Amino acid sequence: MASLGLIGIVVLAFIIFVVYFIFKILQFIIQAINLYKKILESQEAIQELLQGISEITENYESAHLLFDSSLIKKCPDCKEMIKLEAKICRYCQHKFPNE
Ligand SMILES: [Zn+2]
Repeated sequence: MASLGLIGIVVLAFIIFVVYFIFKILQFIIQAINLYKKILESQEAIQELLQGISEITENYESAHLLFDSSLIKKCPDCKEMIKLEAKICRYCQHKFPNE
């Protein structure tokens, strides 16, 4: 009877160990999922940041072009403002005759 009790304790300890092991694996999986979500969120944040930077750059370029209006002409085809020295429109590829 004493040996049966010992086996019982060993089996119980083994079950506790297995349950603990499964619990640890689940914890690890949850942590991995959370980490993956954070990575995705940070990637979106970086993309938004890059988009913001490109928008600012574009705004600066158009503002700079408008400010420097003496170096600008209007394309007769698409009505976009382009550089005075341009021989081809960068928007519609309209060709300007050589002056
Ligand atoms: Zn054009």
